[in-house]
Amino acid sequence: MNHAPHRLSPPNPSATEPEVLVIGGGTAALCAAISARRAGASVCLLEQAPKGLRGGNTRHSRNLRFMHPGTTPLASGPYPVAEFRADLDRATGGTMDSTLTPLLIQHSADVPDWLEDAGVRFQPTASGVLPASRKTAFLLGGGKSMLNALYATAEGIGVEIQYAAEVRDLMIREGRLEQVLVAQGEQVRAWRPRAAIACCGGAQANRDWLRAQWGEAAAGFINRGTPFAEGQVLGSMLRQGAQPVGDPHSAYLVAVDARSPADDGGIVTRVRCMPAGIVVDRNGRRSHDEGGDTASTRYAVWGQRLAGYPGQIGYLILDARGMREAPPSLYPPISADGITTLAAALAIDPVALRTTIARYNAAVRPADQADDPAGWHTLGLDPPKSRQALPLTEPPFAAYPMRPGITFTYHGVRVDAQTRVRLGDGLAVENLFAAGMIMAPNIIGRGYVSGLAMTIGIVFGRLAGEEAARRVQG
Ligand SMILES: Cc1cc2nc3c(=O)[nH]c(=O)nc-3n(C[C@H](O)[C@H](O)[C@H](O)COP(=O)(O)OP(=O)(O)OC[C@H]3O[C@@H](n4cnc5c(N)ncnc54)[C@H](O)[C@@H]3O)c2cc1C
Repeated sequence: MNHAPHRLSPPNPSATEPEVLVIGGGTAALCAAISARRAGASVCLLEQAPKGLRGGNTRHSRNLRFMHPGTTPLASGPYPVAEFRADLDRATGGTMDSTLTPLLIQHSADVPDWLEDAGVRFQPTASGVLPASRKTAFLLGGGKSMLNALYATAEGIGVEIQYAAEVRDLMIREGRLEQVLVAQGEQVRAWRPRAAIACCGGAQANRDWLRAQWGEAAAGFINRGTPFAEGQVLGSMLRQGAQPVGDPHSAYLVAVDARSPADDGGIVTRVRCMPAGIVVDRNGRRSHDEGGDTASTRYAVWGQRLAGYPGQIGYLILDARGMREAPPSLYPPISADGITTLAAALAIDPVALRTTIARYNAAVRPADQADDPAGWHTLGLDPPKSRQALPLTEPPFAAYPMRPGITFTYHGVRVDAQTRVRLGDGLAVENLFAAGMIMAPNIIGRGYVSGLAMTIGIVFGRLAGEEAARRVQG
């Protein structure tokens, strides 16, 4: 990637349209637009959202993963190439693209410097207010603050930005992008840029799209992020022969409070304290070991499980002691003095819930070591609770209703090493590039490691911007 100081030539004055059209308004789009403009191209960025909602799921993000062989003020220790690679291998089962993955890891190293140069600020670990992280850097002020800085930088160097501009369709002919159909208010206009970069994410907000993949279960999902993720551009590319990548039937799901808004609830709606209680379905039955997952990915494990529950709803049941252990939550728990009244509040059969809790309490065995609540476990219970199995006996009792919260789908388009969109025959569309979640499944077609989505958006957004500028100037 180009690290030379940025020398701007004025945008091509004779052009009636920008040389490079960037579709989207999140991390990937801004990095692409800034890079293309710094490389000398005239650039217009089209964001479907109105200005007040600009920035897609980037608004909700807080950290990004980066390789650093030595110490840095932004992380608590080194994170070398081999370990980054091993983490991706483990998360994806080794399915990552063999060309793009080394590019991602290598170029992740200078992501913090590049962003700081573009006005973004990070929180140093010494500030003491962060979750301890050796592998990721945390944004000061989160994703919105980062977006505000990147928009200001983009505007400052002459990127034209248009809001409430929805790209409806692309026209690809004989390996070339010919036309981009854009709706703004009542008007629909055909643009003919010399190159375009699709940075407009997936289709996780599109209920019809989800229903086509998940059937009726999709009605029970909550979209954690932007409602402007309808998949128009992804769908258009796939219909015209772009190579799909990932699995259309799979999504990164986390357990969220069932009372969350249908879209845009963000990070605060997660339910995080399953080991403090038991989880039942709407029939009052347990199906999983609540003490089995301690990794930071446990919310994702539960999101996936909830997707298979009847009606895609589950209830975390706690007693007074469990409530004392639970971290603060956005919504108050539904609480009651007894199990029967709690069951009534949840519309669960009281006999079923009482029976499940009585069986669980009878199976609870203390830890081998005194003063080790984590060592409490069940004996003879199916499924077991392998850790932290304290009895549910202290009133009042409480419940959090939970649903699968969709973060993104593992469904995108294949790209080559220059981030050009590849067609089914393996050839690339010469002037159509893609960056961010729309191509992330090239690397992460399943599984996840925290902070990776942002890094993919930044690294491939920058690369796409440089390649698109090179293309229009070549
Ligand atoms: C609650 C939550 C928390 C997250 N936290 C993190 C985190 O801490 N770290 C991390 O790495 N990842 C995180 N992620 C994932 C991460 O936010 C996204 O993967 C990342 O923002 C992807 O960047 P992007 O630019 O590809 O997409 P987005 O940031 O989603 O941007 C897509 C843009 O495209 C626009 N758009 C969509 N369709 C069109 C169209 N047809 N025409 C024009 N514009 C269009 C949208 O309005 C939006 O501006 C989180 C996601 C969520 C939902």
